Amino acid sequence: MNKNDYKNMWVYIEHDGKTAAPVGLELCCEVRKLCDRTGDRLYAVVIGALPETELEKVKACGVDGFILVSGTGYDFFNTDAWANAFTVLSRKYNPSAIFVGGTVDGRDFAPRFAVQLETGCTSDAMELDWDPETGDIQFIEPAVGGKIMAVITVPVLRPQVGTIRPGTFPYAPVGAKERVEVIEERIDFDPAAIRCHPVGFIPDENDPELDIAHADCIVCVGNGLKDGEHLERYRTLARLLGGKLGCTRPLYDRGILPYKLQIGQSGVMVKPKLYISFGVSGAVNHTAGVDAGLFIAVDKNPNAQIFNYCDYGIVGDMDEVCDELIARLRAGDGKLI
Ligand SMILES: Cc1cc2nc3c(=O)[nH]c(=O)nc-3n(C[C@H](O)[C@H](O)[C@H](O)COP(=O)(O)OP(=O)(O)OC[C@H]3O[C@@H](n4cnc5c(N)ncnc54)[C@H](O)[C@@H]3O)c2cc1C
Repeated sequence: MNKNDYKNMWVYIEHDGKTAAPVGLELCCEVRKLCDRTGDRLYAVVIGALPETELEKVKACGVDGFILVSGTGYDFFNTDAWANAFTVLSRKYNPSAIFVGGTVDGRDFAPRFAVQLETGCTSDAMELDWDPETGDIQFIEPAVGGKIMAVITVPVLRPQVGTIRPGTFPYAPVGAKERVEVIEERIDFDPAAIRCHPVGFIPDENDPELDIAHADCIVCVGNGLKDGEHLERYRTLARLLGGKLGCTRPLYDRGILPYKLQIGQSGVMVKPKLYISFGVSGAVNHTAGVDAGLFIAVDKNPNAQIFNYCDYGIVGDMDEVCDELIARLRAGDGKLI
């Protein structure tokens, strides 16, 4: 395989027929920057119909072109037709890299078409870079329990496939190009060959307390928490601050809080204005998921890693500090600092 035969980068635009999922737009913005360095063109790949207004949003991220796929087999998301579409397209156009949102669907079909193309697929990178010497994309992510940042490349094979978790990159559109190419492809997939069919749809219970990705304030509780009975004070603090509760992975593992509240590399990525952590040691797997305007950390260990990340650190017992903050908020004018 000659790497030079593979050019341009693709971003998959996930959608529900009405709206483009934010992750595709975020990826277009980030991959635009990579393409500006490599000289590649950026194409957005859309499977099935998407309203013009949504395509305009994609254009605003600076794409050079669209690849619009129609045909049979796309009435509902299924990994067979989606993986086939990318395999067929990739064999025809030889892209250098394909980026897919790390959603439930993206994590399903991206590794499958990577296997069909006999290439490499990485998941959950927190940073993307490019090595001009080798021409390889660098997928950078925490590894070995967060002790190191691993740089993963696909050095020999093409295309380089990666799934990236929603919220990893900011949505910062650079504006539409004057000319945007549109390639229309018809790729039929036999519906009889689809191995998974939806048997019903039960919407997720829409508990707004569990939607922390866009919360302005988060009170994050870590493994320092003794047990579930000690949790209520942190809920109270979050309520007083007009914020929401979040947690580290051990709290989910211990069955104290649901997975949707887990913040970090394998959980939710958050960008609050205020983030207060209690009993969180500061593993990079967790902190990589936090982009806070103001970061306050409370931990009893003065040498805890978390104090390297925060703007203000409080060394003390987490329950005592939480109670004190609640008392001050109740006694004062509702301001913490
Ligand atoms: C591939 C991979 C992905 C991962 N993804 C995630 C992820 O998405 N999110 C995530 O959170 N983790 C993730 N992890 C786990 C991560 O590496 C850490 O193990 C985890 O973040 C540690 O959580 P913690 O800080 O709450 O617990 P600990 O590391 O156990 O820290 C507890 C802290 O509480 C303090 N403490 C104890 N008692 C008190 C007290 N009374 N008062 C004050 N402080 C106290 C201690 O000093 C300590 O600093 C991942 C790991 C791997 C390998």
